[in-house]
Amino acid sequence: MKIGVLGEQGQDNRVPLTPKNVAALLKLGVSGVLVESGAGSRSFISDEKYKESGAEIASRAQVLKESDLIIKVTEPSKEDVAAIDSGKVLVGVFSPLTNHAMVNLLAKKGLSSFSLDVIPRTTRAQAMDILSSMGTIIGYKAVLVGANQLPSFMPMFMTAAGTVIPAKVLILGAGVAGLQAIATAKRLGAVVEAFDVRAAAKEEVLSLGAKFVEVEGAKDDTSAGGYAVEQSEEFLKRQKALVAQHAAQSDLIICSALILGKKAPLLLTRETVEAMKPGSVVVDLAAASGGNCEVTEPGKVISHKGVTIVGETNMASSMPADASMMYGNNVVNFLKIILKDGEINLNMDDDLVVGTLITHQNEVVHARVKSTLAPQS
Ligand code: NAD
Repeated sequence: MKIGVLGEQGQDNRVPLTPKNVAALLKLGVSGVLVESGAGSRSFISDEKYKESGAEIASRAQVLKESDLIIKVTEPSKEDVAAIDSGKVLVGVFSPLTNHAMVNLLAKKGLSSFSLDVIPRTTRAQAMDILSSMGTIIGYKAVLVGANQLPSFMPMFMTAAGTVIPAKVLILGAGVAGLQAIATAKRLGAVVEAFDVRAAAKEEVLSLGAKFVEVEGAKDDTSAGGYAVEQSEEFLKRQKALVAQHAAQSDLIICSALILGKKAPLLLTRETVEAMKPGSVVVDLAAASGGNCEVTEPGKVISHKGVTIVGETNMASSMPADASMMYGNNVVNFLKIILKDGEINLNMDDDLVVGTLITHQNEVVHARVKSTLAPQS
């Protein structure tokens, strides 16, 4: 069986497999790995490096036609899907809970598609969890981007010219990205506090040396597989009021509160932003899912009444070397459970197979994705 690696055609700088990953797959017994020429260039990986690891360099059309299993970072284009023969396998991150057009297209084409962004949050799945890998990157980068926009220092300094007081950083959402943002802001010497709705987050925040701000009465649904659940209107109203009090004292706010498959909760209202200190900064990592901040403009850096709001939607792509390394390792770990002796071998009793297989044999087979789709007429 041949594995194909497709390059990204849009703005994304990542590549889904590194040369090390190619070598690992060949060791697993696959008959070949076809890499689209230039696929790794924006991650600083040359075709030569892929060749040295045992890959064949091919055109995009060849990769689409000759591979049995194709790996991508983001969703494929309609043209890509049209060029892949039905019955073949596609692995990547396709946002199937919200991107219904893509799900329907993949089912219609008869592709077996695996979307690793919906993998169950179990211990065994940790090494395949692409959202965690990208969360680590964006949480780290958000603090650097925010610090770069600030008109003041992050750490405290006692200098002959006066004392610099440390920046106050507020983190909204202490998942993987938020926790990494806390750790990074602490390393830079800031005073950090964080909000979350999951009870488990409190201990993690405290262990990183930040203060946890608690809003009483959060719904913490432990049956949601490690993911947060939507909160009531009444809870969100109380939370917004408390966030407003803390925001007014903050120099930098990192927004990373998300609910898988839903619009991000609105936590920073326009009024709250307008009451923030001039020169303060908001980095809204939830921008692509609607934003935690009311004035965020996805994909843009704006200034609103003296507050800088960063709405970058794909920060992981700005660190393509490590993002590709982590993505590729996650993919190889996943492929180990769907390959046997170098061939596809799907065990439908495996929760990680069932939890990521979106379309198969012309059907949408993922229970949660199916439940979110509008009935087909
Ligand atoms: P996420 O990206 O889905 O959400 C980010 C954070 O936003 C979460 O912590 C969530 O609780 C929080 N949030 C949602 N609504 C909020 C609100 N109104 N106010 C404040 N915060 C709000 O989360 P994630 O980074 O994917 O991590 C979620 C949890 O899953 C973490 O405990 C993480 O350690 C765990 N996890 C487990 C595995 C595994 O076991 N395989 C893998 C990844 C993550």
